[in-house]
Amino acid sequence: MASTPVTLTTPVDELPGITERQAGFLRALGLTNLGKLIAHLPMRFERVEAEAPVRELVPGRIVAARGEVTATRPVRGRKPRFEAVLIDESGRLDLVWFNQTYLADRILPGMRLKVHGKATMRYGAVQLVNPKWAIEKPGEHPLSEGESFVRPVYPASEDLPSEAIWRIQKKVLPKALPLIEDHLPEPYRAPRNLPDLRESYRMQHEPRDEPEASLSRRRLAYDELLMLQLGVHLKRAHLREHLRAPALKWNAKIDEHIRARFQFTLTGAQDEVVKEIAADLSRATPANRLIQGDVGSGKTVVALYAMLMAVAGGHQASLMAPTELLADQHYANITASLTGSKVRVALLTGSTPPAVRQSMLSSLASGDLDILVGTHALLTESVEFKNLGVCVIDEQHRFGVHQRARLRAQGTDETTTPHVLVMTATPIPRTMAITLFGDLDISSIRALPPGRKPILTRVFTRDHRSEVYADVAARLARGEQAYIVVPAIEAGESSDVMPGGEPLRDVRTVFQELESGPLRGFHLATMHGRLSRDSREAIMERFRLGQVQALVATTVIEVGVDVPNATAMVIEQADRFGLAQMHQLRGRVGRGPAASACFLIADPTTDEAQARLRVVAATSDGFILAEKDLELRGPGELFGVRQSGLPPFKVADLMRDRELLDMARRDAAEWVKRSPDLKAPEETLLRRRLMKQYGAALGLADVG
Ligand code: ADP
Ligand code: MG
Repeated sequence: MASTPVTLTTPVDELPGITERQAGFLRALGLTNLGKLIAHLPMRFERVEAEAPVRELVPGRIVAARGEVTATRPVRGRKPRFEAVLIDESGRLDLVWFNQTYLADRILPGMRLKVHGKATMRYGAVQLVNPKWAIEKPGEHPLSEGESFVRPVYPASEDLPSEAIWRIQKKVLPKALPLIEDHLPEPYRAPRNLPDLRESYRMQHEPRDEPEASLSRRRLAYDELLMLQLGVHLKRAHLREHLRAPALKWNAKIDEHIRARFQFTLTGAQDEVVKEIAADLSRATPANRLIQGDVGSGKTVVALYAMLMAVAGGHQASLMAPTELLADQHYANITASLTGSKVRVALLTGSTPPAVRQSMLSSLASGDLDILVGTHALLTESVEFKNLGVCVIDEQHRFGVHQRARLRAQGTDETTTPHVLVMTATPIPRTMAITLFGDLDISSIRALPPGRKPILTRVFTRDHRSEVYADVAARLARGEQAYIVVPAIEAGESSDVMPGGEPLRDVRTVFQELESGPLRGFHLATMHGRLSRDSREAIMERFRLGQVQALVATTVIEVGVDVPNATAMVIEQADRFGLAQMHQLRGRVGRGPAASACFLIADPTTDEAQARLRVVAATSDGFILAEKDLELRGPGELFGVRQSGLPPFKVADLMRDRELLDMARRDAAEWVKRSPDLKAPEETLLRRRLMKQYGAALGLADVG
């Protein structure tokens, strides 16, 4: 039979030895061609033990045996379990499965069973606890001694179980392996103990032992990490080389002038960051720095410092916030700090009247405006600066990569771009930061300004709701204020019911309950995203002035709102909220001299939700929370990762492969330094694979 030669792009239905039916099932798993098929790697490996006569089973070892079930017994009570006795020619073996009394319907006396598990000694007899089991198939032969082997376990489907995928892999492997070319040369791999790529695929699909499985996994995980790191470093090198930013002057006099504008002395932590930023801004290479600091750590003043440095150097600055509320607040703070100075500040948001906007834009273009504060509205085409020097973005994870690119374009010409500073109150775990934002420098403000009182966080079930509101009422009576955050705006907006049966708590219902119940007689107001901007502003102003004592709201108040007299944060149905979100909300209190509290009302129904609440209650350090969040949810769900447009890793695991990540990062940095274009002939393959994977996502096309 004549046939075209097989390549890695040969569709699975054209592969010899694969039936049409199998090809269909493979396609359903997304494995459309040979390359994709062999890149479908095992998720784990298990050792299949050679069977032994039961009399020879050694306690303490993983063992396998088979025989006939002669007796079974479900045992209920304090330790519910199912017990069975297995007999072969050599003797008797006791089996016990805890919490699995349902096995009484599945394992019956007279059946022939294969079992596999750890042997223990109990009452002088060998016993297997929770062994794996399968009913013996007719004609099946046991593995004889010495035949123990490692079996890959693949992500599978009902139609195509792991075993079947393995058989297919073994069938196609001899065709596929010779087609695999390594993009890493042997002198590079050897000192790093990375096996060859071809061999790595062999070891994944046909491991001779466990070390082969883990060695090859390490190689493939390293590849993923290295590729992304190379991409990120190339991009960074490219920006460094091709883009210029204004080198801003910085000296003691400028520093003194700027500091004179602040109502307080900067903390040591802020000073550090100011120094890092000033050093960045005084260079002609565009700064690209992430400033992470917990809620209330005082990032705004640091940003203002940078903006004033731009103004002192005759440049403009912009500050972009994710919501109008925040933009308003920044604008108010900045104008307050700058009263009596010559610095000209304006606020531009979606609701700026057209006439005002028009004249603002012309002042901006002529250089008659120094600082522009606003929302996404700053990114529209018509917004043109005369000479933008510094651009600050608050709460970075709400902006996507494209918006960052648009920002860069606001420079004066093709090759000049502003310095970019990004502030986030949701610290990004170090591993994530390096992985995804390797092109950013990072400054961290880890200490809070002086005089902050810790916030006491406690979790209550809904049965104890009245205790929470009694505490809140006492606070209001003392003249303090409170936020009450709920997950919905109006009742019945969705069929969404908490697993525990309680309907979603909404602004209106909770407001009415409180007004006529525990908080009767106090001034309450509601706040949510569906109110007009004017009403929101008016309500916020009344809250700030203390005319409103408690605010029933959705998460619109999540970021930025700063009312020091507010001392209680109640989060209803807190299990509906993410870890970072709860932490953000909590950050709204604890800003004044009085002791603050955060009440989480929740009836968590999953372990994960429970863990989240426990963690938030246990620590108020955003950096620790960020690490925990990564552990609980995995990187895929975190912060801006989704928006970042980067594909998730298939093999690498950011929790498990931290060391490998560090290695890949160092290697990539050195590599790009040594060969900034990846143009050497031996780099061709690597370069091609890199571009294919990350060229578009990282905007690397122009590198090559
Ligand atoms: P965030 O990092 O959450 O944006 P802010 O910049 O809003 O924090 O600062 C929180 C509060 O702390 C503000 O009221 C601010 O005026 C105050 N603050 C910031 N830095 C200091 C400081 N060095 N000393 C005293 N108060 C400070
Ligand atoms: Mg802030």
